[in-house]
Amino acid sequence: RTRGTRRGQRPPRAMTPAEPGRQPATLYVGMGSNVGDRLAALQAALDRLARVPGVTVEAVSPVYQTEAHVLPGAAPQPDHLNAAARLRVALAPHVLLDVLRETERAAGRDHEAPRWSPRPLDLDVLLWNREAFETERLTVPHPRMEARRFVLAPLADLAPEAEIPGRGTAADLLARCTDGARVERFPGALTVPPPPHREPR
Ligand code: ATP
Ligand code: CA
Ligand code: CA
Repeated sequence: RTRGTRRGQRPPRAMTPAEPGRQPATLYVGMGSNVGDRLAALQAALDRLARVPGVTVEAVSPVYQTEAHVLPGAAPQPDHLNAAARLRVALAPHVLLDVLRETERAAGRDHEAPRWSPRPLDLDVLLWNREAFETERLTVPHPRMEARRFVLAPLADLAPEAEIPGRGTAADLLARCTDGARVERFPGALTVPPPPHREPR
């Protein structure tokens, strides 16, 4: 029988089911948006992730408005809103990555667009427990997080003691970060979605 939820709130389409018995991991995900209603896109992403079997949204950081990093010579881009979220995830890394990509697509992200073009939603895995690993599709910790104040500022608010394997804590990395691009607190806030009601099995 399908895994039902109340009020017709089905889990998002094309989601691979949770792997029963898989040991849950604690993840930090970096979120960004610089097209459209940015705060709404970030909140919708959290709401959608919270409905995925095997994913729990545990906490979310304050929101920052940040200057977009652009390649040398490229046209400037609109400011991003950025935040970080802590998830508890009982999915394999490649399955979780599919969930993130599907969530980006639901926000209108065009995955054919050139890298680093403006986008309504970007979800990156920053940390996965205290593990460091690399697959064809996923490098954890996120290889560019150290150089990005827009990633480290919300992460250090949410989890200053979170360990980046071999590098120190999120607060340490933020203190050492030399990124001079503008990062400022944004007045709007994100909320942790309530867990969906699931029918007993
Ligand atoms: P950046 O990775 O520099 O933040 P980006 O987020 O714009 O750039 P995308 O186009 O969203 O890059 O993703 C490119 C690819 O990065 C994805 O297809 C994904 O397979 C891969 N990838 C590798 N490591 C990660 C990670 N930790 N989190 C998310 N995607 C990752
Ligand atoms: Ca990114
Ligand atoms: Ca990405």
